[in-house]
Amino acid sequence: MSSAMRTRVTEAFKADKDPRKINLGVGAYRDENGKPYVLSAVKKAEEVLRAANPDKEYLPITGLADFTKNAAKLAYGKESAPLNTNSIAVTQSISGTGALRIGGAFLARFYPKSNVIYLPVPSWGNHTPIFRDSGLEVRGYRYFDKSTVGLDFKGLIEDLKNAPEGAIVLLHACAHNPTGVDPTPEQWKEISNVVKEKGLFPFFDMAYQGFASGSTARDAFAVRHFVEEGHQIALSQSFAKNMGLYGERVGAFSVTAADPEEKARLESQLKIVIRPMYSNPPLHGARIANTILATPELYGEWEGEVKGMAERIISMRERLYDALSSTHKTPGEWGHIKSQIGMFSFTGLNAAQTKTLAEKAHIYMTADGRISMAGLNANNIDHFAESVNKAVR
Ligand code: PMP
Repeated sequence: MSSAMRTRVTEAFKADKDPRKINLGVGAYRDENGKPYVLSAVKKAEEVLRAANPDKEYLPITGLADFTKNAAKLAYGKESAPLNTNSIAVTQSISGTGALRIGGAFLARFYPKSNVIYLPVPSWGNHTPIFRDSGLEVRGYRYFDKSTVGLDFKGLIEDLKNAPEGAIVLLHACAHNPTGVDPTPEQWKEISNVVKEKGLFPFFDMAYQGFASGSTARDAFAVRHFVEEGHQIALSQSFAKNMGLYGERVGAFSVTAADPEEKARLESQLKIVIRPMYSNPPLHGARIANTILATPELYGEWEGEVKGMAERIISMRERLYDALSSTHKTPGEWGHIKSQIGMFSFTGLNAAQTKTLAEKAHIYMTADGRISMAGLNANNIDHFAESVNKAVR
């Protein structure tokens, strides 16, 4: 979805004075009262930082070393072979967007085999401009099947098999945005095999680790499987969603290497890319994230809170599915509401239906029928289900 689309939705929502109004266009988590949520682990980490009263000197080009080490451990897992042999080059980034942009610029400049990147169709609206502006040629691979509101696995495999050797392929590690449709572990294994056969370069975008299933390890399955299978990978991480640090802009970009020597070379190349962009990254958010990742009690509390957010979203999926399929007996098949993963759901509602919902029921979403499940709560879900039921009849 484009940010312009989202801005229009937000503006229309703000202008609506009806008390029943619902905004399902927001890309950030909302609590059960529809309010932004600052995690308790984050508040406590900020207290720890306040007491420590650290200075405000510049960070190195690649950021806070403890943070990047702990971010890599979270993504790759503490058993990871390249992690334990000091073979992952990692840099702090301006959240996930910045990580993707560093990755795009790094690959455009230093990856010798191809300047083509394949994105799923559809993908997060910012992916195309990020990689195009990085100097890569953007192409698409089939991903979403409108007729089943599910994964077009056959199309995906065919398109990857037909990609030129060495091409870069962007994979959403979990909670695909905007569809909410992810491959199963078995399908990931097949994707890994095709990527290997064709010598493609896998670039994972992991913007929702822990936020999808409630488990940071489960959500990292694809990334860890590819690494175990011996792929060299690139990875973008964001702490916007899973720590609720949206505006703090905390993220990391990493590339795996064969050995510490190659890692050192990759790190020098990353510095060459980053230095002219912004010299070095901001301090505060990385300090918050690192305090959580490095302090066992805060880490435990954070894991509980990520699980809580994921479970609230999953429970909204279940309630919405039950309301449509049982209570209202709404025409159509609604199983995808329950099977989709993460914050977003492609409802299958068309542009005319979304317009009706805005005009008649004060419910705002993008014209492609994507809703943020986080915008639903016990107070508004009945109004939403009833209104969808009317709109599709
Ligand atoms: N990748 C995907 C798939 C996303 O959905 C988002 C956020 N909407 C991002 C990356 C980047 O987000 P941020 O820059 O806030 O970390």
